[in-house]
Amino acid sequence: MSVVLVINSGSSSLKYSLIDTATEVPLASGLIERIGQPLSVISHTVHPQAAPGEPAVTMLDATYRSEQPVPDHDAAFAAMLAQFAEHGPQLAEHPPVAVGHRVVHGGARFFAPTLITGDVERQIGELCVLAPLHNPANLAGIRAAKTVFGDVPHVAVFDTAFHQTLPPAAYTYAIDADLAREHRVRRYGFHGTSHKYVSEEAAAFLGRDLATLRQLVFHLGNGASVTAIDGGLSVETSMGLTPLEGLVMGTRSGDLDPAALLHLARRAGLLIDDLDELLNKRSGLLGLAGRNDMRDILAGVAEGDEAATLAYDVYIHRLRAYAGAYIAQLGGVDVISFTAGVGENAPKVRADALSTLGFVGVRIDSERNERKAKGIRLISTDDSAVAVLVVPTDEELEIARQTLAAV
Ligand code: ADP
Repeated sequence: MSVVLVINSGSSSLKYSLIDTATEVPLASGLIERIGQPLSVISHTVHPQAAPGEPAVTMLDATYRSEQPVPDHDAAFAAMLAQFAEHGPQLAEHPPVAVGHRVVHGGARFFAPTLITGDVERQIGELCVLAPLHNPANLAGIRAAKTVFGDVPHVAVFDTAFHQTLPPAAYTYAIDADLAREHRVRRYGFHGTSHKYVSEEAAAFLGRDLATLRQLVFHLGNGASVTAIDGGLSVETSMGLTPLEGLVMGTRSGDLDPAALLHLARRAGLLIDDLDELLNKRSGLLGLAGRNDMRDILAGVAEGDEAATLAYDVYIHRLRAYAGAYIAQLGGVDVISFTAGVGENAPKVRADALSTLGFVGVRIDSERNERKAKGIRLISTDDSAVAVLVVPTDEELEIARQTLAAV
């Protein structure tokens, strides 16, 4: 059994998953939240493994919740190890053969899962200027993990890597070329691990050859992005230099006229940090309707709340605009997939996003779309020219797969 430990280290959280790469089932997973605050919240879930011949459905996960101070990432690693020791599985019995790390920004340098050497660590550090919220936290996780798991390889899996196949026409912004080059201003794209995983799962589910398919993947969570994938390669994606561009998100604006920022700086006296906070934390659904969770927005729409209805309409309008643009870039589309919190759980969003695409042959089966289910599923009609799917994303599994491939 080859077990891989997957680490997703954020600025105030540590997510981990211990995955058996033979069965692709996690043995345990957990989340440590509010690192650095007086009390952190820890949840550790043990997924029992079915013995040979035993049906897995008869066995229930056990989740252990606790609170304790976790001042930094080193302490978070110690807390994670304590969870394994107390609740299992015992790491000595399932020693990880490698540790896979989610790293948000790989710039233009990293296009594949990469063994973390001292030099790679230094380069991830250099990329902190492009991802000041994410890369420092990723790096802290890598350093803490290397102290604990010193004798196994550590692999970085980058959110940007899948989008390294974007053609120059898609990644270049039309600004002064020298200035852009000097400061590495271009589209990088994010959520790449998810877009790659979902597009491959979709092809496998349909029994089609990935190389022949034109796909759109809508990753709609708190953050949201859409990618056009041609023959398995990312050719266009909605997030840009940072994860701010593109779709309307929970708290992020997505696209707006950059001159709006100049206007707000001049007229409302907003400084750079104010604008950063405005666009990343106080915009999107939250900015429009005071609520960032799509469940609350949908409830507002159902009650006829005006602000929630406008926020929802703007969200859908943007999805349609991107779908149209990307189908034009691809010259047609064979598969459209929805994933992440909103994409997997909000049938109304899926139906409304695609309701104008009858002219390219998209037909949603409303009964299939509304049906509550887990797992990958088809929601288009049998005669739809485009297969529309719900594909639950699994970034941890994809990181484990890529980590194992890299070592
Ligand atoms: P993250 O980007 O943080 O990984 P997720 O992919 O988990 O986020 O998505 C979280 C979001 O999914 C929530 O903020 C909420 O808006 C949305 N969501 C979750 N469940 C539902 C649901 N049943 N209906 C509509 N939206 C949902």
